[in-house]
Amino acid sequence: MKVKNINGTSSNLCKCGSWLEHWKNFSNQSLPSYCPEKNCLNKPEVGAHVQKDSSTDSSWYIIPLCKTHNGKKGETIEVSDSIALVSANVSKTCGK
Ligand SMILES: [Zn+2]
Ligand SMILES: [Zn+2]
Repeated sequence: MKVKNINGTSSNLCKCGSWLEHWKNFSNQSLPSYCPEKNCLNKPEVGAHVQKDSSTDSSWYIIPLCKTHNGKKGETIEVSDSIALVSANVSKTCGK
């Protein structure tokens, strides 16, 4: 699937401590060995804010990405379909 890397407010942390921990807490998946970007072999190190591309869903989601891909703000990237999109809306997740 394609997602757009948005300029997430990395300073605006949730209760989980980091957005990567937030993803781990709510994805029901273990952290993949590699960044989910299709051709990337780096380790996923950060929880990145993304939106679904070509969708009417404008919600913000968290996925794990390597630092290189997390740095590509505003770009659309192709990621593995198996990666879980975790809502970045804390009122629906850890802020309950
Ligand atoms: Zn959280
Ligand atoms: Zn990557």
